[in-house]
Amino acid sequence: MEQQLFNRVYESVVKREPTYDGVYYTGVKTTKIVCRPTCRAKTPLAGNVTFYDSLEGALHAGFRPCKRCKPEENGPLRPDAALAAQVDAIIEKKYSDKLTLSMLAASLAISPYHLQRVYKQVTGYSPAEKTERVRLKHAQKLLVETDEAVAEVGAAVGYSSPSHFTSWFCRRTGLSPTEYRNGQRSLL
Ligand SMILES: [Zn+2]
Repeated sequence: MEQQLFNRVYESVVKREPTYDGVYYTGVKTTKIVCRPTCRAKTPLAGNVTFYDSLEGALHAGFRPCKRCKPEENGPLRPDAALAAQVDAIIEKKYSDKLTLSMLAASLAISPYHLQRVYKQVTGYSPAEKTERVRLKHAQKLLVETDEAVAEVGAAVGYSSPSHFTSWFCRRTGLSPTEYRNGQRSLL
């Protein structure tokens, strides 16, 4: 598993988010127990974890199913979680483009209504909200770590109009992009 994906899945384990429930299984090397990513037991250290994309794989490697989160029990979440994970992957890749619900749905060959409902069930928010969160995260990073003009930062996260970008950024953070940049840099 590549490092970036490992980090994403591990983050979901730390936060006990259901994003990868049914998609990956957490093998804990120190205890030889395999868990769902959402297990409520104490979070294992990243260095002690191997992720398997099937429970069978983990069992073959000698892990025993956790008695607490019971990874062998197939909840109704499985295909839904897989779908939500696919949506996240598309958003992470295409956040700088115009990204609409119908485009997302079309790329997964399902209806926009179904996509919206399932995604919200799994994550607690809509694909549009997720897209905004991803855009904000990248915009904040660019503002702090680069000297790109505000207009360029906006364009990089999907806002062709600098004034739209600025008012959106203010709405989400309470600060203008320049205030945010100066504020963060003064902390460094
Ligand atoms: Zn467990």
